[in-house]
Amino acid sequence: MTSIIDIHTHVKPHYPDTAIWNCMPDKLSQLDSGVRYASIGLHPWFLSQSSFMEDKASLVEALARKEFIAIGEAGLDKLCDTDWDLQVDAFLFQAELSARLDMPLIIHCVKAHNEIMQLKRRLNPANSWIIHGFRGKSQLANQYIQAGFYLSIGEQFNAASIPSIPLHHMFLETDESLLPIEKIYEQVANVLSITADALMANMRQNADKVFFNH
Ligand SMILES: [Zn+2]
Repeated sequence: MTSIIDIHTHVKPHYPDTAIWNCMPDKLSQLDSGVRYASIGLHPWFLSQSSFMEDKASLVEALARKEFIAIGEAGLDKLCDTDWDLQVDAFLFQAELSARLDMPLIIHCVKAHNEIMQLKRRLNPANSWIIHGFRGKSQLANQYIQAGFYLSIGEQFNAASIPSIPLHHMFLETDESLLPIEKIYEQVANVLSITADALMANMRQNADKVFFNH
């Protein structure tokens, strides 16, 4: 199978034609090693007030490269040390940029679910917002789905909430895991009592709609 979609991976993708490699801003040179699709963003962990202006400019400049089809990880993280107002500024900047460029936004969210949902309600973006590494409960999944988000499932998912995520609003990802993406497809398909092939076909459709439609 060469069409296995992996929307977020930090490691060298097994399927470079259908994986979206998360490029850290200081790793731009690695793009030249055969990655077709990539995302780039200002991660809340690595923000600094002193370099914020420069980081924003570098992001805008990097996004001109054809490999970049999404912005992220952008997000809010209440467990990290980064100043909260700086996190919000950086997230808003990237939310607006992604809307302007009509690119999907890949979101890192830790203990800030209400804030992220409120921001989406306020900004009402036409582009897709995707919560990456979702491992919340069914109730949270329902809230996100009602607010129009996509939820991306990685290795450490919460099996109980998987059935609450409609297939047309789900993605799968390896993130930092070295587990092959096939394994994650098998596990999620098992929970849903469908075949991994059926799940792959669904995720392919979602990816065509959200990521590969430009
Ligand atoms: Zn990640």
